[in-house]
Amino acid sequence: MVQSNPFVMAQQQLDECARIMNLDPGIHQVLRVPAREIHVSLPVRMDDGSIRVFQGFRVQYNDAKGPTKGGIRFHPEETIDTVRALAAWMTWKCAVMDLPLGGAKGGVICNPKEMSQGELERLSRAYIRAIYPLIGPDKDVPAPDVYTNPQIMAWMMDEYSKIAGKNQFGVITGKPLPVGGSKGRDKATAWGGMVAIQEAAGVLGLNLSKATVAVQGYGNAGYYAAFLLHTICGAKIVAISDSRGGIFDPKGINPDEALKCKNDTCSVVNLPGGQRISNEDLLELEVDILVPAALENVITEKNAPRIKAKIVAELANGPTTPEADQILYRNGVHVIPDFLCNAGGVTVSYFEMVQNFYMYYWEEEEVMKRLAKKMTTAYHTVLDTSKKYSIHMRQAAYVTAVQRVVEAMKLRGWV
Ligand code: NAD
Repeated sequence: MVQSNPFVMAQQQLDECARIMNLDPGIHQVLRVPAREIHVSLPVRMDDGSIRVFQGFRVQYNDAKGPTKGGIRFHPEETIDTVRALAAWMTWKCAVMDLPLGGAKGGVICNPKEMSQGELERLSRAYIRAIYPLIGPDKDVPAPDVYTNPQIMAWMMDEYSKIAGKNQFGVITGKPLPVGGSKGRDKATAWGGMVAIQEAAGVLGLNLSKATVAVQGYGNAGYYAAFLLHTICGAKIVAISDSRGGIFDPKGINPDEALKCKNDTCSVVNLPGGQRISNEDLLELEVDILVPAALENVITEKNAPRIKAKIVAELANGPTTPEADQILYRNGVHVIPDFLCNAGGVTVSYFEMVQNFYMYYWEEEEVMKRLAKKMTTAYHTVLDTSKKYSIHMRQAAYVTAVQRVVEAMKLRGWV
């Protein structure tokens, strides 16, 4: 059964990992719950002169390895359990990449699509005033997430800096370049995914310049994945999709032409030359590499037996259900799990913090070189763990991450 409460799901995944690792029950209990969470009420003056009170959260899950890190979501259906789950996953994501960071997440219940820029700015500043004592460059560093963007990060950084009485660029990442952002942040997630795919291809003996690729979702992660796999690796993109459906062209799709088509017509399905397919069909195509880059729970026990790809590179969060994981593992499909595959974004966020601390900014080439090194090391550590324990890659990513957090907690004398 698919668990609908994301925090219960996150706890179940940890429980499974604790079983594999034979984790001390006391330490397991510490890791099952967030270390700290704050609920705030945010009064905001709306454009019509009225006052509305918005509810917000910040959850700091575990900071044994360093300051906590995690995005802020503005969403009408935000819940504390979603924020708790995402904070837990951020803890494991930072740990699997061996970043000196813990995990956190924030959220505000609001509908940004119905708010003016002025209202959004006042809400963003109110949120920072409310959580100010708990965040900071060496405490907890937020970032953009669902329906928040670089402009919102700039307002938030500015509000924090005003209260602190000094420029504090390192308090937030995902900022615009002129106010302390990092080069390469836009394509970081896909770049990290591409490096993981290159490593996996090396292990499986797959020649990427002859490989075929299907990408589900043609947004930030999906477009850049298609673009990079095509231009850097020489792979052939044979299928792409968005919320309106997909397109299949065995002769190969040019990623930039597809992006132009999406920008001009609102969907990739209008790309000339290809054959229309559904999002479900795309997942089952005879391709070497499948990149889910849209939604969660798209690979389930129903379609997993029909997945023919050799590599499933999860740029989306949570595209594969636990039941499907087992089926893919049995069938020899090599899954690069989400919190490893899409960790390029948080890794470049970490580099942004480093550049803010140093007050010295790197060229994009430098950022990508460092990201590739981190991702290559993380991928092989997870692969080795999967072989050592005879477990699939997602379980191995969990074990790798949890071991590191536990080691830090022990060294600090917490457990
Ligand atoms: P985005 O909003 O830029 O793009 C999402 C794409 O998915 C759009 O093209 C949309 O049309 C498509 N889509 C929506 N519903 C669909 C459906 N039912 N079937 C197929 N396609 C559908 O989002 P993004 O930033 O690219 O994020 C995509 C996924 O990657 C999410 O799961 C996100 O959590 C994950 N992710 C992204 C980043 C990042 O840096 N962008 C980092 C980590 C994880």
